Amino acid sequence: MAAEGKDVLSFGAGEPDFDTPAPICEAAIEAIKGGFTKYTATSGIPELKTAIQGKLLRENGLRVEPAQIVVSCGAKQSCYNTLNVLLNPGDEVILIAPYWMTYYEQVILCGGVPVVVQTDASTLFVPHVEQVKAAITPKTKAIIVNSPTNPTGAVFGKETLEGIAELALQHGFWIISDEIYERLVYGATHYSIASLVPEVADRTITLGGCSKTFSMTGWRIGYAVAPVEAAKAMGNLQDQVTSNPNSFAQKGAVVAYTMPDDAVTEMREEYHARRDLIVDLLNAIPGVHIAQPKGAFYAFADFSSHIGERFADDCALADYLLENALVATVPGSVFGGPGHLRLSYATSRETIRRGVERIATALSS
Ligand code: PMP
Repeated sequence: MAAEGKDVLSFGAGEPDFDTPAPICEAAIEAIKGGFTKYTATSGIPELKTAIQGKLLRENGLRVEPAQIVVSCGAKQSCYNTLNVLLNPGDEVILIAPYWMTYYEQVILCGGVPVVVQTDASTLFVPHVEQVKAAITPKTKAIIVNSPTNPTGAVFGKETLEGIAELALQHGFWIISDEIYERLVYGATHYSIASLVPEVADRTITLGGCSKTFSMTGWRIGYAVAPVEAAKAMGNLQDQVTSNPNSFAQKGAVVAYTMPDDAVTEMREEYHARRDLIVDLLNAIPGVHIAQPKGAFYAFADFSSHIGERFADDCALADYLLENALVATVPGSVFGGPGHLRLSYATSRETIRRGVERIATALSS
């Protein structure tokens, strides 16, 4: 529609709208000019592994060896590598809904069975540990924890993470901790489960990457941190699938993980202001509700009172808003959260104001 010249306002993509900070770009450009354009070691250049090792210690309280780090073409690949090496056919993976839909599809692609624990707004989309416990069976191989969460912005507190860690120890399953939004928290604290409960470090695979923190989605650099045996298996798998992540993007990532914090702080402050803005504007629409998300850059708003008669479901509502209000949102049901729409606020305040106004007008007409 945008290509046809229509003035579509998009809350769709989970993608920062900022430019990648200049020093990161410069490092990559220098790398190209210097001929750093060939294959590298599959699991990442030593310089980048050292930079990530330093970041993990400084920011996450994780003390790891370079051999435990596998750099990939994005956290999405790291997640796939992880599930592929962990799962045998029929193994169950606990997902906490609403979840990033990729987890669901990847578990199936790797021969596993997703087992969904449903949360809702009453707990700000944080699961009760008892719910997780009830989902465990002899076939449980892993749980995916994603805090801050896409699509809800939930940030899990210490007690929840400790409870999940205790269950993993008791029942002998893996924890896959996707911490890609770790730096985007607003007045909340992010904890890495493997440092919060060191006893689970040898059964935890922590995922992260440059995409969200440094506005580097197109660079395709992510990583997994795993016990050495699992890291080796993931490196072997990646060796047969994609080989190394882009050589000069890795050089940029070295700068991302070693430069001063100012650029990230500035982006976070802007997201914080946008969160406050979008939450206020959405709550001002009759029949729309959202509690303040504490992290990531998504507003997962409850539109269920508009669903039933006029719109069959959230997909019909999202279609209507796209076609009639020229506003792109993502229906909650794709994340296992029907009745909701996800609006990414990684877009300008101007787009937020105009877009939410269009939604309000379309719903009242
Ligand atoms: N995990 C979550 C929860 C995400 O939302 C995303 C991006 N949408 C990713 C991982 C993947 O990030 P990337 O592959 O760009 O590193």
